[in-house]
Amino acid sequence: MQGIGKMYIGGEWVEAASGKTRDITNPATGERIAVVTEGGLEDVQRAIRLARYTFDETNWRDTSSRERARLLFALADQIEAHADELARLETLNNGKPLGEAESDVSSAVSCFRYYAGLITKPHGQTYEVPYPIQAMVVREPVGVCGQIVPWNFPLMMAAWKLAPCLGAGNVTVFKPSEMTPLTAIRLFELIEKVGFPKGVANLVLGDGKTVGAELAASGMVDKVAFTGGTETGRSVMRAAAGNIKKVSLELGGKSPNIVFADADPSVVAEYVMYGIYIGSGQVCSSGSRLLIQDEIYDAFMKELVERTNLIRVGNGMDAETEMGPLVSQAHMEKVLSYIEIGRQEGATVAAGGSRLTVGEYAKGNFVEPTILTDTTPDMRVVQEEIFGPVLVVQRFKDEEEAIRLANGTVYGLAGAVFTNDASRSMRVARKVRSGIMWVNTYHPTYNEAPWGGFKQSGLGRELGTFGLDEYTEVKQINVNMELKPLGFYKGKGE
Ligand code: NAD
Repeated sequence: MQGIGKMYIGGEWVEAASGKTRDITNPATGERIAVVTEGGLEDVQRAIRLARYTFDETNWRDTSSRERARLLFALADQIEAHADELARLETLNNGKPLGEAESDVSSAVSCFRYYAGLITKPHGQTYEVPYPIQAMVVREPVGVCGQIVPWNFPLMMAAWKLAPCLGAGNVTVFKPSEMTPLTAIRLFELIEKVGFPKGVANLVLGDGKTVGAELAASGMVDKVAFTGGTETGRSVMRAAAGNIKKVSLELGGKSPNIVFADADPSVVAEYVMYGIYIGSGQVCSSGSRLLIQDEIYDAFMKELVERTNLIRVGNGMDAETEMGPLVSQAHMEKVLSYIEIGRQEGATVAAGGSRLTVGEYAKGNFVEPTILTDTTPDMRVVQEEIFGPVLVVQRFKDEEEAIRLANGTVYGLAGAVFTNDASRSMRVARKVRSGIMWVNTYHPTYNEAPWGGFKQSGLGRELGTFGLDEYTEVKQINVNMELKPLGFYKGKGE
């Protein structure tokens, strides 16, 4: 990116009408790493108008799926060719360790390839109905999509949104988080390079309350796809009601990681750590609640606390780093305030609990990997999403209690069960009300399978064939194979 980071609207790189800019900082050092234009209402409305024109008046939606597949494959190749650069940019902007950023980039590449392949596969249906009618179903693009993503997986979330949307022949106005726009800007440079027609993929920058809210509210947008917090999701859904636009929401979580007494602490403790501390706990599906069976509580917690205290926290660019900073100072303060709330509610801080402030740490937003024990189900730290490196521990006696506790929040995004009893693992996986369950592992997620939440964790699914469905309208067409007089109206007679 040369100079000020710009928006990509109607095939042109533009600055905000207001001329306002925003500084983008490195959360590990507090340093300014870029300046980007700060879009406002006027800019997003212009982008929506151009997107509407592109969908209604150009031939984009009639392009063959082969042509759209070619563009998506070409984009995947470009992302792959720039993988190192994109991963470094992600780490600089978001803070996550470089290895995590590299795996996000590779997942983005495979996401574009997956949908490039999928969209050329057959997806219509025909039905046998009474002769002479032939009934069929075809799929068509939804139209203009407003797509809004958060700061925790900036590039990967962009891929999840853009690949099925563009693959299905829609037009997008895409908005990254105002805190982490850098990889999205680079991605749109690559979108331009591979030759997507002007106006098909539009990038707007700016804050959620202005730019995001307009994407949700505009009568010219047919669908809004949102990933972010549950409260924001609620307001997106309300705004979308104005023109009954299609809505898909990927929201927050408080996912239970259920460990039964037959699990081996020396193996499973590390999975629990990975479940919560990857991405510094800023992952919607984080295993932020450990549910542990009474019999192994002491042995497991000893192993877990010892190993958690050894996690290497640092700058994501440092190869030794196992956990990076939080994305912003404001977010760090929110996480620290939750730890304080936990203390006041009577929880025990069994590991971590503080900001790291010595030496280099002082410049960044570093919080120790933290474990809260002695909790009760009604505590705020048990019920609310903290979205940081804070593991909350709950104890259970038996399977029934584990399931009750697991289901005891408004969320239902993900969860895991660790046990060697295969029947039990299936029973628990089925009874926990969430969109994703892992058995004897945590976090593996693939573009081939659907992602999304039950309850207040969301609406609709991303990824897999389900993810493509969200970007298509289903149309029934009935064809009369024998056109002859209908004979319905006999008339009143003379
Ligand atoms: P956020 O809700 O504050 O912001 C998300 C995006 O929405 C940003 O681009 C923001 O600018 C925009 N936004 C803010 N207010 C808006 C409004 N009124 N109307 C429209 N858009 C608005 O969330 P965040 O803090 O950036 O991200 C963290 C949240 O995202 C967590 O709750 C996390 O669980 C969730 N998340 C969910 C998933 C999932 O797949 N379920 C994935 C990643 C993150």
